[in-house]
Amino acid sequence: MKKLLVRKALSLVLAITLLFSMSSVLTVFAVEDPTVTVGSVSAKQGETVDVDVIISGNPGVYSFVVSLSYDETRLKLTGVKNGSVLEGPQHNINNLAQNPYKLTFCNPLAAEDNTANGTIVTLSFEVLSDAAEGTAEISATMDEENTFNSNFEPCEFRVENGAVTVMHEHIAGEWETTLEPTCTAEGEKVQKCTICGEILNTKVITALGHDFYEPYIRTPATCTTDGEVYRTCSVCNEEETKVIPATGHNFGEWQISTPATCTTDGEETRTCSNCGEEETKVIPATEHVWGEWKIKTQPTETSDGVKHRICSVCGEEETRPYKFKYLLGDANEDGIVSIDDATEIQKYLAKMVPYLEAAACDVDGDGTIAIGDATEIQKYLAVIITKFPAEKE
Ligand SMILES: [Zn+2]
Ligand SMILES: [Zn+2]
Ligand SMILES: [Zn+2]
Ligand SMILES: [Zn+2]
Repeated sequence: MKKLLVRKALSLVLAITLLFSMSSVLTVFAVEDPTVTVGSVSAKQGETVDVDVIISGNPGVYSFVVSLSYDETRLKLTGVKNGSVLEGPQHNINNLAQNPYKLTFCNPLAAEDNTANGTIVTLSFEVLSDAAEGTAEISATMDEENTFNSNFEPCEFRVENGAVTVMHEHIAGEWETTLEPTCTAEGEKVQKCTICGEILNTKVITALGHDFYEPYIRTPATCTTDGEVYRTCSVCNEEETKVIPATGHNFGEWQISTPATCTTDGEETRTCSNCGEEETKVIPATEHVWGEWKIKTQPTETSDGVKHRICSVCGEEETRPYKFKYLLGDANEDGIVSIDDATEIQKYLAKMVPYLEAAACDVDGDGTIAIGDATEIQKYLAVIITKFPAEKE
């Protein structure tokens, strides 16, 4: 059973192989079938074209006669040029008025039959200027009686007719828009032949670009926040927005709203002319501008007097007692001269003590309270000196 199947398959393969080889054999026969072929070309009105007449599968001829008839409403024969394939052309290549045009080849001197294949003649046709579009047939008819070999045996030829296909000259019409351009996309236009409608030219139409209305402010900018402006395309409604940057405050000059005094801070203010935003700044207190210490009340032996000084700006008065007599070197006024007095002067010079009485402290008599006075007190306590330089004899 299995063997049989294999055999069947094999025979199928053989059959196919045979089929292929047969078809190629047939093709070879077809090529070698004696044939006269008239070429086919296309041309426009007024043009001149060449059409070849070809012999193939030539079995060997002594005499060969074929008539070629053509559509004279469209074509005019203007030339016949003999090819080099068949010998002994008998036809008159200058008498072209005949239609059909008869080709006659016969060489009485030839030693044997002509078996060449190829172009036997090339016909030149002028396409009449008023020729209708379409197919102008050129057909061949064998003169069987006069086509034979040297044994006077007839030679049969198959014919394949040809043609000149008459075409019009395209006439370009107006440009037609096939795709309208938009704001952002390209369009297309074409130029067609007014006769046959064939598209002859194609062109891109550039995008139109938006056609914006005047811009509108959607959100005005303020001193501190960005605003926004927009505009809209009148064609496609496309919206475009842009930021308006914040303007920043537009402050005026600083104005003193509260003046500073000797003891209290003042304040300056400035205001934005756009939004009213206010900015303030402290003016520091100026401190008193003191005048000289002066004796206000004279001291007596039994009661202290008063010294005072006055601020020239605010009139503030500062007072302190003023004794009838001061002990020289007793800076802290505790009634004795000790190391504490030197320390008191140092503290005063370091601004840790606001006031010391020069009458008690200026022990070196130079008119000011200075570090030299503390030194003199230390020298006095160490008994390096026994009295101060300022002390009178
Ligand atoms: Zn056309
Ligand atoms: Zn637009
Ligand atoms: Zn502002
Ligand atoms: Zn003052």
